[in-house]
Amino acid sequence: MTTYNFSAGPAVMPQPVIQQIQAELPSFQGSGMSIMELSHRSALFDQVINDAEADLRDLMQIPDNYRVLFFQGGGTLQFTAAPLNLATNHHHIGLLDSGHWASRAAEEAQRVHTQVDILGTGATNQFTALPYPDQPVNQALDYVHLTTNNTIEGTTYTKLPDTGNVPLVADMSSNFLGQPYNVQDFGMIFAGAQKNLGPAGLTIVIVRDDLIGHAKDLPSMLDYQLFADKRSMFNTPPVFAIYAAGLVLKWLKAQGGLTVMAKRNHDKAALLYDFLDQSTLFNNPVKPADRSLMNVPFVTGNPAIDARVIAGATDHNLLNLKGHRLVGGMRASLYNAMPKAGVQALVDYLADFEAIYKKENA
Ligand SMILES: *Cc1c(COP(=O)(O)O)cnc(C)c1O
Repeated sequence: MTTYNFSAGPAVMPQPVIQQIQAELPSFQGSGMSIMELSHRSALFDQVINDAEADLRDLMQIPDNYRVLFFQGGGTLQFTAAPLNLATNHHHIGLLDSGHWASRAAEEAQRVHTQVDILGTGATNQFTALPYPDQPVNQALDYVHLTTNNTIEGTTYTKLPDTGNVPLVADMSSNFLGQPYNVQDFGMIFAGAQKNLGPAGLTIVIVRDDLIGHAKDLPSMLDYQLFADKRSMFNTPPVFAIYAAGLVLKWLKAQGGLTVMAKRNHDKAALLYDFLDQSTLFNNPVKPADRSLMNVPFVTGNPAIDARVIAGATDHNLLNLKGHRLVGGMRASLYNAMPKAGVQALVDYLADFEAIYKKENA
């Protein structure tokens, strides 16, 4: 039985990439050394990081006036780095409170003495619908923080909020490269790699170059301008994670790019949502227009039944379906590397479970 991994992150990667890593692990490009043993100052690694940046620019059509930076520290470090680098005029940002990761971002910005205005909140509907600014956005804000895809709550912005001339800073950690975006709609985009790109240990930052270089006396490891000047090699970068992410970027290009991935992701998500919507046992509570293509939470409403669903799924090699502890129930993450066959296997299993459950309770 094929194993399908529905983990929210670290998450499934494309099988051909895993196989390529395995094949070239002992000797990278005939060097007699593995990628993990290469100097980040070597010509071989230079090619790896340059290719990764070029392929990412190509896939996302990143304009020349945006810098691509490779960080460590996860998405979480960017909750600190973004205000330190970009909130330099007024130390004042806006934020759309769309769920857990948005509130984490607000907390971390406040820790570095940035004033955070909540422009709209989903708290009043348990985050089952996305907030937009309640009023015209104050044009004196340094930026507005937006979580494009809410990994725990299972929501995605399909329409961006209107912030006037205030730049948007997007946390795309869980839908990075899952669909095309117009990079110019954002001042900055960041994403931890371990959801939809590659192994943990790498975070991508894409930032408009006029927004950086204004902060004074930043710790070096948080300084976007320094990372831009040093091509992300101020210190030792996460060599293996950049290499593996680079292979995924090449795989994405070979699939046909982000428009193709978006169509596949729509098809996969529709398969599961259509099943959930006709089911009388399972329910996804999210407003249809705000549903995520990447993370699909669902519940039966009874934690004991949820536990049976998850245990039975594991027996069918459908792994990591336990929902986040904040919302309970189940969650299926359907990132780029999840094949449609995996979603079909999940739907078949859930349909069988429902039929058996109904017979037992008839
Ligand atoms: C997972 C996640 C984070 C945190 O990522 P780390 O890499 O663990 O720091 C931040 N934002 C979103 C939307 C996420 O899904």
